[in-house]
Amino acid sequence: MSISDRIEEERDFALNVLLHVGALTTCMIHEDDIYEGNGDLEGAYKYANNQFSKKDNPMSFEDRREMTDIIKSVYEEYCGCDSCPSCESNFRE
Ligand SMILES: [Zn+2]
Repeated sequence: MSISDRIEEERDFALNVLLHVGALTTCMIHEDDIYEGNGDLEGAYKYANNQFSKKDNPMSFEDRREMTDIIKSVYEEYCGCDSCPSCESNFRE
């Protein structure tokens, strides 16, 4: 597996964790639009650490620190936007 594939998988994992705990959310209409949910980053760390323990580091993270760093950076890409960008632009038109 190439390094970029690995990063891609780790980012997918992080995104799934964030969506699972509701820290980020998706639009009911635009499933691909991700934006800020309850912002529960701590909950996301906790859930991911749980997965890490249970599945014995499924995504081949170097360590838990790397995992939480990726979760944080993925979260920061989407936070600051508290409603669906596509719905907002429809609303404005
Ligand atoms: Zn929408």
